[in-house]
Amino acid sequence: MRLSDKFRHLAATTQVKAQEVIHSAVQNVRSMRPSRVISFTALFFAVCAVGAVGVAPLAPDASNLPVKTILQELPLPSLEEQMAKIILQQQHFIKEEKIQRGDSLASLLQRLGVDDAKATGFIKSDSIARGLMQARAGKSVRAKTTDDGLLEWLRVSVQDDGNKGNKTLLIARDEHGEFKAEEITEQFERRIEMRSGDIQSSLYVATDKALIPGAVADQIVKMFETNIDFYKLQRGDYFNIVYETFWQNGEMVKTGRLLSGEFRNAGKLFQAVWFDEGAGEGGYYSFDGKSLKKAFLKSPLEFSRISSGFSMRLHPISGKWKQHKGIDFAAVTGTPIRASADGTIDHAGVQGGYGNMVIIKHWNGYSTAYGHMSRIAPSMRKGARVMQGEVIGYVGSTGWSTGPHLHYEFRVNNEARDPNSISVQSAAALAANEMPRFRTVAADMEHRFALLRPERGSAARVAAR
Ligand SMILES: [Zn+2]
Repeated sequence: MRLSDKFRHLAATTQVKAQEVIHSAVQNVRSMRPSRVISFTALFFAVCAVGAVGVAPLAPDASNLPVKTILQELPLPSLEEQMAKIILQQQHFIKEEKIQRGDSLASLLQRLGVDDAKATGFIKSDSIARGLMQARAGKSVRAKTTDDGLLEWLRVSVQDDGNKGNKTLLIARDEHGEFKAEEITEQFERRIEMRSGDIQSSLYVATDKALIPGAVADQIVKMFETNIDFYKLQRGDYFNIVYETFWQNGEMVKTGRLLSGEFRNAGKLFQAVWFDEGAGEGGYYSFDGKSLKKAFLKSPLEFSRISSGFSMRLHPISGKWKQHKGIDFAAVTGTPIRASADGTIDHAGVQGGYGNMVIIKHWNGYSTAYGHMSRIAPSMRKGARVMQGEVIGYVGSTGWSTGPHLHYEFRVNNEARDPNSISVQSAAALAANEMPRFRTVAADMEHRFALLRPERGSAARVAAR
């Protein structure tokens, strides 16, 4: 089905269903008639998603649309009173409850609106059905009952299976009125979502506004932290992202990986794509196949929803190359400092005016130095291996320092250089035999971004690295 058709269909369905809802509401004052309806909210959400993305033909596959199905049972609109009565007698309810700490079977069933001694007896005695009583607190349980509380079916997910699916316990009454219990594996449906955001104040304000889940927002930082200092975003910066989500029964169960993104910062466009290298390995690469992990972080200071909060705004980060051959990052005492690339500790201890200082050796004669720390992280000793992003110490004011800040030096053959003025050589790009597969992945993402971009104007230039 084409996207436009899908929308027409959606709109039509919603209209019809809305009439049903109104009809039902008039028929029966009992609030919240359960219904199997693609609700207004769902349509609104779908329209919002398109709105956030910007252009109409966004996703190549219409099945990617985040349509939320609300599972509720609704009597069909009846034409004759006789029919209406029969339908009213057969009303069903689907209720969902989370298992609470200290729940008993009785208290759980009561909240679900189940008033059924036969069902209770079955759950207590059947070896499979008893699994319900072992399900952990926080799990969702759904039950369908008749008007007077007789159980028709009950389902609870009992085990997560990574991104593949859930093992679900299903207890159901068959056509003879007998209960049966079974464990079924329900596959997750993987969807690809696309979102855009504009920077007005900070990254997290923009991601919240674009309804991007927090876990995905954090991945945006990870994806671009070797290109962008997120403390120094500007109004007018923007981003487009593609990420995966996993769904079950019309509900989003979890978010997955940020697959690709582009970020325009201070007039430069950076693009990155996740490339699966097999055997559980993978990483982010620029569109020309260079590993972003093999570059240096733009800011050794940790950027997170917490660190970018109010307290940081009182201590603006200058991050400017200074006469004294370093970059000073003003920050509150105790802010975590991270290794800006993989390497080996060359020095960890007091060194003259630098106070508490760590020096890390990288590749190609590159090294980085971090001064004035209040505290060096415990395991940082000469010879220790560190990974990019690993916390090596905390901001302080030791040595010749007038206030808490990080003094950061980027050195080439032991000589301090302005990291923004030289093009750093990556230690590794993708192997030549990986490139054809990589180009296919990158081209797909480039195509998606091209669809998102027209509204932005075509002036943006790619500064891939
Ligand atoms: Zn300094």
